[in-house]
Amino acid sequence: MIQNKSYSADQSCVLCNSAVGYQKKFNRFEKDNRSYEIIICPGCRLWITQPFPDQEHLDSLYSTNNYRKHHSRFVLPAEKIVEFFRKLRCRRIKNLFYKGRILDIGCARGLFLSLMREEGWKTFGLELNDNTAHHARNVIGLDVKSGNLSDAHFGVQSFDVITIWHVLEHLSDPILTINECNRILKKGGKLVIAVPNTESLQAKISGRFWFHLDIPYHLYHFNVRNLRLLLGRFSFKINKIRHFSFEFNPFGYLQSFLNISRIEHNLLYNLLKTKSIRKSLLSRTRRSKFIMHLSLTAILTPFFIPLSLILAVIEAVMRHGGTIEVYATKRDDD
Ligand SMILES: [Zn+2]
Repeated sequence: MIQNKSYSADQSCVLCNSAVGYQKKFNRFEKDNRSYEIIICPGCRLWITQPFPDQEHLDSLYSTNNYRKHHSRFVLPAEKIVEFFRKLRCRRIKNLFYKGRILDIGCARGLFLSLMREEGWKTFGLELNDNTAHHARNVIGLDVKSGNLSDAHFGVQSFDVITIWHVLEHLSDPILTINECNRILKKGGKLVIAVPNTESLQAKISGRFWFHLDIPYHLYHFNVRNLRLLLGRFSFKINKIRHFSFEFNPFGYLQSFLNISRIEHNLLYNLLKTKSIRKSLLSRTRRSKFIMHLSLTAILTPFFIPLSLILAVIEAVMRHGGTIEVYATKRDDD
């Protein structure tokens, strides 16, 4: 159960224990008639969304059309691209570990897990949303539990690989989650975490318009140092950090640039969703205003695409990728 967590300015940092106290990073994100802000630890530069949405609001956020209830999230061409990227994920894991038992935390529709199953892996999933978990279980036939990791009661050292693709930032207690991963992962097992990177070039350029901020879904916002601190608390050794993601980073720039241009927030991204999801996301602005935003998107996108691609490569070379993928091993000497 999520607590209605709030951090006070005089509190020491939850991650680095810095006693300086949290400071304000961004104020006033208005979402669904609620107001949020982001605070930052001056020590480790961890960002935290404040206040956390309460459990009731969070349930409604994840159960509406908005999130991952449906089998298809995007219009067909975008859906094909998502499938292609899931295959690449699958290949990266296969290069990491020969074959074994894998747990995907926040497995959503189970696209990645079903590909791993085809490769002969024993697959297990965890999904917060019960409707989505039900679909993965009953339609795709995957072994998926719904709820939080600590409630799933997996056995000690029962997995060879655990993956957390763009989910850690959604969790109300990421420290507890990594602690539990440490318990259920075998010695020598691999933990893979992908998150947006607040120290990235695109985060710095975009500020509060950054596509990957995703308020109020993202509760914690990490950088490389934060993940080093988090994994270092347990018996994990980081082997590799990828700073280029063709799936996330160029689009992060593109949508951020459109947001900076004051076009309706995340309009292009929302237009890529299936019709039923799209209807609930697009704001009910006047038709003429909507057409103007649509036209601006159509005019600016061809200019922003090459710029986004170039910047995504530059930030990766600088080791400041918009999203990062961390590969860690559980030490044998635990
Ligand atoms: Zn800190």
